[in-house]
Amino acid sequence: MKKDSKELLLKKESGYKGLKADKHKKVFDFAKGYKKFLDAARTDRETIDEVIKMAEKQGYVDIKKVKRAAKGLSHDRFYVLNRNKSMALVNMGRRPLTEGAHLLLSHVDCPRIDIKATPVYEEGGMCFFKTHYYGGIKKFQWISAPMSLHGVVILKGGKKVKISLGDSLDEPAFMLPDLAIHVSGKLQGERKYNEVIKGEELNLLVGTIPAETDEKAKDKVKLNVLEILHKKYGITEKDLVSAELSVVPAMRTQDIGFDASMIGGYGHDDRACVYTTALAAFEAKKPEYTSITYFLDREEISSAGNTSATSLFISDVYEAILAFDGESGLYHRLRKAQSNSKAISADTTEAYNPTWKAVFDSHNVPNVNGGVTICKFTGAGGKRDSSEASSEFMAALIELFDKSGVKWQTGELGKVDEGGGGTVAKFLASYNMDVIDIGPACMSLHSPTELISKFDLYSSYEAYLSFLNFKGEFNL
Ligand code: MN
Ligand code: MN
Repeated sequence: MKKDSKELLLKKESGYKGLKADKHKKVFDFAKGYKKFLDAARTDRETIDEVIKMAEKQGYVDIKKVKRAAKGLSHDRFYVLNRNKSMALVNMGRRPLTEGAHLLLSHVDCPRIDIKATPVYEEGGMCFFKTHYYGGIKKFQWISAPMSLHGVVILKGGKKVKISLGDSLDEPAFMLPDLAIHVSGKLQGERKYNEVIKGEELNLLVGTIPAETDEKAKDKVKLNVLEILHKKYGITEKDLVSAELSVVPAMRTQDIGFDASMIGGYGHDDRACVYTTALAAFEAKKPEYTSITYFLDREEISSAGNTSATSLFISDVYEAILAFDGESGLYHRLRKAQSNSKAISADTTEAYNPTWKAVFDSHNVPNVNGGVTICKFTGAGGKRDSSEASSEFMAALIELFDKSGVKWQTGELGKVDEGGGGTVAKFLASYNMDVIDIGPACMSLHSPTELISKFDLYSSYEAYLSFLNFKGEFNL
């Protein structure tokens, strides 16, 4: 018998087509919470702080408070913090951890402009901070707009001062000034596109008024800035050496379009996945498989460092859970638990942009409002450096999403020999677990303001939740 064309063809259409009014409202309401989160979580550390705040409201406790009880543990929802920059939320499942966990992994770091160790200098009657950008950016996008300053400074004696300045309109912000078009034609006009502004030209303007306190002082504007810093925070120039300070766009997260269907904001990559995976973990009340939702750092610089996806922190969380029961054979059980685990690397990818259609394979690019994007593999031309999900794992997830009513699509990052990018998936695969990249497609990734569709954001949440709530066997 001939099959209906509906069954033969893979549909690619907007998630808004036939969307019921109550679901439409859910999509928009979900975005409200996300926008607040994004405004509060401006850096890696602040993102972790926000996740902990939300988790504690949901009844999660620090793993240090968890004790062995007569039946299982004193708490079945807890978090493990690593150096205030990465963490894991654990929901204990009905099955033992050795049968595998369901992992969601997102990254808390975003491209930004970091402050150098000895940043302060005066030139031309102005005071600046030297910077070193973090992550892959088009540097010329980050200048000539208000930036806010965030981070921590450890004072002499060990007191930690948290700084967050410039996001509110009643606070001063900062700026990386550009050169007027009237004078820049020759100097900048002849440069290649990503050298229009060079790294050493990203100098942050922080003050212009000279100090009156010390007549003999040479750099009076610099001195005045240091006097303000000392008065406000107790900071000296020496304290800045060990400080972790970054500047990020000072803009507020805002709806975009007459229909308010998109959200413009700083850091959708990957705080959209931080938020959606955290909310999925909160909502997955008593999962079959233990769920571990990791929030990792340093992804934007290839996951190097002790708070990244290559850190043994990944294993330490497993080990801490397994150690509760006091049984022996810990290494054997750790390996069993990890190789039986299934992981979703929750990260963003770039959506189709018709203005630059030349860089996409139109058959294999996610569309805005097309639902959550499944990337079978990441990497670049020739599948270099890619982690690829098995056919079995991908098919099982697609079946799960279809059953759970999750709208999904697939996508590759740009044309074969042109695009490409990595995520944490390949590092997870090295534990011999099944892993796949799934997340919302954005536009203008790594720009100071990125775009995300409210529908795709919500679809991502639904996909992650269905994965944590999965009860059967994947039989991979
Ligand atoms: Mn990312
Ligand atoms: Mn990125």
